[in-house]
Amino acid sequence: MKNILYKSTRGAEENVTASAAVLKGLAADGGLFVPQEIPALDRRLEELSHMNYQETAYEVMKLFLSDYTEEELKYCISHAYDEKFDVPQIAPLAKADGAYYLELYHGATIAFKDMALSILPYLMTVAAKKNHAEHDIVILTATSGDTGKAALAGFADVPHTRIIVFYPKDGVSPIQKKQMITQKGDNVLVVGVNGNFDDCQTGVKKLFGDRALTEEMAEAGFQFSSANSINIGRLVPQVVYYVYAYARLLENGEIKNGEKINVVVPTGNFGNILAAYYAKCMGLPIGKLICASNENKVLYDFLNTGVYDRNRKFILTSSPSMDILISSNLERLIYKIAGEDAGKDRLLMDALGREGKYEITDEMKERLDCFYGNFAGEEETAAGIWELYDRTGYVIDPHTAVARAVYEKYKAQTGDQTKTVIASTASPYKFTRSVMSAIDPSCAAMDDFALVDELSRLANVPVPKAIEEIRNADIRHNTICEVSEMEQTVRSFLKK
Ligand SMILES: *Cc1c(COP(=O)(O)O)cnc(C)c1O
Repeated sequence: MKNILYKSTRGAEENVTASAAVLKGLAADGGLFVPQEIPALDRRLEELSHMNYQETAYEVMKLFLSDYTEEELKYCISHAYDEKFDVPQIAPLAKADGAYYLELYHGATIAFKDMALSILPYLMTVAAKKNHAEHDIVILTATSGDTGKAALAGFADVPHTRIIVFYPKDGVSPIQKKQMITQKGDNVLVVGVNGNFDDCQTGVKKLFGDRALTEEMAEAGFQFSSANSINIGRLVPQVVYYVYAYARLLENGEIKNGEKINVVVPTGNFGNILAAYYAKCMGLPIGKLICASNENKVLYDFLNTGVYDRNRKFILTSSPSMDILISSNLERLIYKIAGEDAGKDRLLMDALGREGKYEITDEMKERLDCFYGNFAGEEETAAGIWELYDRTGYVIDPHTAVARAVYEKYKAQTGDQTKTVIASTASPYKFTRSVMSAIDPSCAAMDDFALVDELSRLANVPVPKAIEEIRNADIRHNTICEVSEMEQTVRSFLKK
């Protein structure tokens, strides 16, 4: 097997091993780590069609994370994809109304972030050992809701790690807040900050950049790290489920061996759809990659005009995890279509930093022809939830509904009948209020947990454990701090 090294999209960093890239997260020159080459699948599709999720994960991840031993990788996989998931298939496919929904929400926090954040802690602790890091890892995260809980669930009680999550005290939904402040684990700290998400984010960045603090922490036996979505330890595990989905379709006789499928991904930071693109580059028969945006349609505009422009109003929607104006993982695609030219990539990213926009060349644009982009507004999204429910009884969340609406537009525009997998990124139970108001507006007066029960009745799906657990869970974290007190909060937690 080939040893794959990782290089920075900005070109100033030496190539590093996969495990070093996982430990570092971001390259020192500000770029993102990308594999020197994207490895080809070395198993036939027919072979893959007989494998379970864990076996598939090994076959895909061994190619990217080539300095992990078989034993190390299998240890990570078996500890990540276990009973934390509420179905043995880990990522089941549901057929409804002519499409296949790849349910990526059966993990601990019922959103697709669990697919990667349940394995990242293991990839990181193994990487620390391989690279002779002497210190325990301290994950610092600022969250606007979803990532924080998924990271907490992933790192809770993982030996040699601690995790500290800062959330805006009044800036997350009641369910999200309850999910976080009830988090169990001896190594976790959840802190409400008197400020907004930007304050939390800026505060965390400052902690990372604080030399004196870093040295003091090193002496106490700690090193900081991040569970951010640009870490290749989050990207690689996401490639797995596209291969797995294809293999399931093949196994179930829905497609012929080698038949192309299309993939629709509700997109924010561009991590999930980039993983699908990597799967295609590995040789998985994927035709179109359909990029679905909500009203924050930066990516739609980019794919259609070649101009990426973040200078626009930020719109709050019912699919908050896609309310993003800077899709950080897009840089990996830009680098690729720039012919892996770090100089070109750097110029564009500098322009993005300076002016908030950049334009790619026609030549680069041509290399995007396997992508299709469109967007869905709030009304279309809600109507789609109702329509699918009405036709089939199947209920999807607002993020997935954006993807469905875009898929409908794609079909209407192109007439393409290719079998299609829609990435279903969150359980409808995570966004019960939006989902129920689409299905039955008369429920508006009900409280959040009454809505949960009503959804369970209508959809005929049991309430997920993740929701049941927080209904009556004890509150374990009531630390609140000012932005200026974040550093002290970190110190006191680590000195305990
Ligand atoms: C994070 C998230 C997305 C966006 O995924 P990206 O990889 O950031 O594009 C979509 N849906 C849900 C529910 C998410 O949590």
